[in-house]
Amino acid sequence: MSDCLFCKIIAGEIQSKKIYEDNEMLAFYDINPMAPVHFLVIPKKHINNLLELKEEDASLIGRLFHKAQELAKKEGCEEKGGRFVINAKKDGGQTVDHLHIHFLGGRTLGWPPG
Ligand code: 5GP
Ligand code: ZN
Repeated sequence: MSDCLFCKIIAGEIQSKKIYEDNEMLAFYDINPMAPVHFLVIPKKHINNLLELKEEDASLIGRLFHKAQELAKKEGCEEKGGRFVINAKKDGGQTVDHLHIHFLGGRTLGWPPG
């Protein structure tokens, strides 16, 4: 989508600190980290949010999570863990309407969310 921030990052029109890229996904550090380790994993295919996920893209989400856990380990979070989050729409606090997995680690996170 031409007016989507994350599509622009995928296209290289907006710079990001990339961690991983292949033909179907991109991982990069969050510009406003909420934890010592905070990166995003996004599909290159524009999907608005998890509530609009089609069955045909279900396995893609699995691969995104698998890559997220691989990168979380590389970032040193295997022992203590962290949080894999997908915010969806207004009540979920989604601010960028392009599906993304957050990984947050490197500190103990509170629960429940505020
Ligand atoms: P959401 O609130 O939609 O779940 O998460 C969107 C995330 O994207 C936020 O954590 C925000 O800091 C991050 N973000 C917004 N704009 C940019 C950007 O231009 N570059 C990067 N790397 N992250 C961004
Ligand atoms: Zn997009």
